[in-house]
Amino acid sequence: MSQQGYVAAPPYSQAQPGMGGYQAGYGPPGATQPHYGHYGGPTQPFNAPPTASMMKSPPAGMPPTPVSSQYSQNVQQNGGHRYPAPPAASAAYGQPPQSSYNSMSPQSPPTTQQITNQMGAMSIGNYAPGPQAPVNSVAQQHHQRPAPAMGQPQMHPGPQSPPMSPQMSSTQFPPANMPMTAPPMAGSPLSPPPMAGSPMGAPPMGAPPMAGSPMGANPMGAPPMAGPPMGGMGGPFPGSPPPGVGGFQQAGPGPQGFPQQPGQFGGPMAGPQPGMPGGFPSGPSQLAGPPQKKLDPDSIPSPTQVIEDDQVRRGGQIYATNLRGQVPPLVTTQFTVQDQGNASPRFMRCTTYSLPCTADLAKQCQVPLASIIKPLARLPKNETPLYVVNHGETGPIRCNRCKAYICPFMHFTEGGRRFQCAFCNCVNEVPVFYFQHLDHMGRRVDFYERPELSLGSYEFEATLDYCKNNKPPNPPAFIFMIDVSYNNVKSGLVKMICNELKTLLEKLPKEEGSESSVIKVGFVTYNKVLHFYNVKSALAQPQMMVVSDIAEMFVPLLDGFLVNYQDSKAVIYNLLDQIPDMFANSNESETVFAPVIQAGLEALKAAECSGKLFIFQSAMPTAEAPGKLKNRDDKKLIGTDKEKTLFQPQKSVYEQLAKDCVANGCSVDLFLFPSQYVDLTTMASVPSHTGGSVYKYNNFQVETDGEHFLRDLRKDVQKPIGFDAVMRVRTSTGFRATDFFGAIHMNNTTDVEMAAVDCDKAITVEFKHDDSLGEDTGALIQCALLYTTLSGHRRLRIHNLSLNCSSQLSDLYKSCETDSLINFFAKSAYRAILNQPIKNVREILVNQTAHMLACYRKNCASPSAASQLILPDTMKVFPVYMNSLMKSSPLVGSTELPTDDRAHQRLSLLAMGVEETQLLLYPRLIPLHNMDPSSDVLPAPVRCSEERLSDSGLFLLENGHSMFLWLGQGSSPDLIQGLFNLPSLAHLQPDIAALPELDNPLSKKIRSIVSDLLEKRFNSMKLHIVRQKDKPEILFRQFLVEDKSVHGGASYMDFLCFVHREIRQLLT
Ligand SMILES: [Zn+2]
Repeated sequence: MSQQGYVAAPPYSQAQPGMGGYQAGYGPPGATQPHYGHYGGPTQPFNAPPTASMMKSPPAGMPPTPVSSQYSQNVQQNGGHRYPAPPAASAAYGQPPQSSYNSMSPQSPPTTQQITNQMGAMSIGNYAPGPQAPVNSVAQQHHQRPAPAMGQPQMHPGPQSPPMSPQMSSTQFPPANMPMTAPPMAGSPLSPPPMAGSPMGAPPMGAPPMAGSPMGANPMGAPPMAGPPMGGMGGPFPGSPPPGVGGFQQAGPGPQGFPQQPGQFGGPMAGPQPGMPGGFPSGPSQLAGPPQKKLDPDSIPSPTQVIEDDQVRRGGQIYATNLRGQVPPLVTTQFTVQDQGNASPRFMRCTTYSLPCTADLAKQCQVPLASIIKPLARLPKNETPLYVVNHGETGPIRCNRCKAYICPFMHFTEGGRRFQCAFCNCVNEVPVFYFQHLDHMGRRVDFYERPELSLGSYEFEATLDYCKNNKPPNPPAFIFMIDVSYNNVKSGLVKMICNELKTLLEKLPKEEGSESSVIKVGFVTYNKVLHFYNVKSALAQPQMMVVSDIAEMFVPLLDGFLVNYQDSKAVIYNLLDQIPDMFANSNESETVFAPVIQAGLEALKAAECSGKLFIFQSAMPTAEAPGKLKNRDDKKLIGTDKEKTLFQPQKSVYEQLAKDCVANGCSVDLFLFPSQYVDLTTMASVPSHTGGSVYKYNNFQVETDGEHFLRDLRKDVQKPIGFDAVMRVRTSTGFRATDFFGAIHMNNTTDVEMAAVDCDKAITVEFKHDDSLGEDTGALIQCALLYTTLSGHRRLRIHNLSLNCSSQLSDLYKSCETDSLINFFAKSAYRAILNQPIKNVREILVNQTAHMLACYRKNCASPSAASQLILPDTMKVFPVYMNSLMKSSPLVGSTELPTDDRAHQRLSLLAMGVEETQLLLYPRLIPLHNMDPSSDVLPAPVRCSEERLSDSGLFLLENGHSMFLWLGQGSSPDLIQGLFNLPSLAHLQPDIAALPELDNPLSKKIRSIVSDLLEKRFNSMKLHIVRQKDKPEILFRQFLVEDKSVHGGASYMDFLCFVHREIRQLLT
């Protein structure tokens, strides 16, 4: 057992109320019987009803599940919810010329056989393991035998639901009692789908129908049909690459990767499609026909309501992780996690907590199976930090065959002398020092004393075997590298950074329990040449060394470059004071960039440590040097098959540099201050492969953007972080991790390498079957992260999670998590646009959405009129998030969106966790005008739609990256006076960046709301203050994601109708 200070820290030394903490040092059994009794334990001290969450039934004493009450006007049917009829699906979706959505043969009677065919066709394609995951001896060893029964009760969430289970909770529109005043097109169950010649008719360039295909007139131009994945070529969407279960395959050779396809119509390049960048074009021509029945937006599923309901139902509670396959509260809900054998949802969330038993089922439903892992996630103060376990010189106990780490799922046998691996079934000897007797239930008597036997997450001290060159690592270093070219000096940025560092360096992150930070610091300034500084504590003055041979970067000094801040404080202060003056008269406007990264890397290598570079760069590197870039932005590419090249880094030294950085544990954070295009895609290629972050401040001005930047910098420097990390995800037999998304690098198919990983970085892992899974045994995931701590300790952090397996699709849908699904879809789509036309990616997203929902409808929902849209309860708001994703800037080919901004969002999202993608895709819109300034309660957010705004309103909108305060034209003078000390809205300066500090309750309250949000979010945000109908309002409006997008893209209502129509076509 570890006896380190880490263990003895206050949170560990006493049991927390209701939290069952360990005694310090894990005292003898019985000293305090911590409340971990779960696996077969007789008591359930935490009264979380084990099945409540799964069954969506309210815990005792709680109000009934509010879902139904909100829609109280709706008819309940089989526990489902019906909604009023959407307007005709076709209305807003005038047929895009490239679409095949309406090409289904209209008159086919829906016989059972046809439905089967149709559903079969849905699952065509490349479910086979991707090419990136060849059989790997270590990885595969554990896939050979069925897993043993686990020594824990089978915790099925409820009765096995048959496909038509009455327990199944769904959402339906429209209600049966609503008159179907459907427009002629597709709104009514009886009206045939549109025929050619109607506004929805086949596009002019339709390819010949595919023989034998039920799709009849297929306008999509068939993609290359060769290859087994396209086998089911009667598929409903021949025009788009077949989505795998995960939606997108990693680009790669062979049939599994999407071939780079010619344009949809067989031509080499589809031209831009004006006016339809969002993929759901609408046009006046499509509005022909009788006027639409205006549908009440309140009648379609509301994300804010779903969030609020979950908060009411599960908020404030303790979520104990003792149940297999338990679906956690939503990521937006405030709850306290108690680790009782499975990893906290803060570390791991899954797209579904009930995996389908077979690959066939997975294919059929096309719900991606994935886990979003944030291995170093921050825990709230009231949750127990992870324990550190020390197994001594031999290192952590592991399975001899698959190398899984000892965990609560291992099964001890033969009186405790052996254990059977829950991942590969191998029977292992228990080392003598680790032997312990078993109790009458077959459980080790030291069960509660050992975190690795009773908890879902814990850490091991790593032995030298886990260290580079078998040497303990040195403490990591931070190197600050400041571009001192003309623009950065002129703007005042250099001075600002130097001033800030004086205070920020006092707050370098340190390991919990440590007195001071052991991180070393170093300083470089640069323009066309690099300046290194010797800040050794013995010096009276810092010394500068200039390296002008930037082609062969070397570090001119070893001793005195990386120092302990506290030791060298006086010299560093001196340096930071001098830097702004030294370059005050510099006219140098050109900079280098790759040599800067190279220099930082070489310095870390020379010091034999890992670390992070903080680079503050003003512009594209145009000076003659390796990594010199040129402007290659080209708006003409938007909407063409070549648009993807905008997101592909230029072939350059950066690729190799990224690999070298990863190999040496050198992470790069890039702070950009551009006034024009900088080729962010290429400049960010090193940060985005080294666990780094990119921050961007367009047209930076100290006065308006300074605070925003400084808040980001402070957060970034102080973040908990691990270095030189390798993550490995092991699974029990029958399935395995096949694909990984994040700010990561992979040299092989299994090891996720990260030069650094901070508390906000998440890795999304996709799983696929390679055999069938057993309902009894369930499925296990173990994520092991080997990393160097802030104080230079080598540690292994282990997260374990057990999932259910079911042969009933209804179980899968019941256990889905929409926020995780969207995280997966966003990452896979953002990666897919590197390799295929964006419009294909959008089509795949729509198709897969329709497939998933159609499969639910067919297999899990009770029979109902075709005109009703039926959504699984867990995926009720999936369409609104999906639509928002499709309108996000990387997926919207609008020439008005700067390429760098799109690239920035794309790369940032790839490293995001579920909480962050949820907020990004569905911003919070908070009404502040009716708020009681004396209340501590934040007003409930409203839906992101213009309809929710009011002329006299005051709203705060934020998505974790942007923040707006929107003022209605009719705002009361009192409000304006209280907030801005101005007589009326007309007096408000358009570019104020912060609220004035006024001494009145309203001003104080709103400023405190803003600062709380800024504190809470991962990034800082600049506050934009916009007046209704002012020009900058357009920026604000693009965040109203339920509305039709200003850059193209459907409204939520239109999208829902469109998806509904797709589903109906799939089911006819
Ligand atoms: Zn094993």
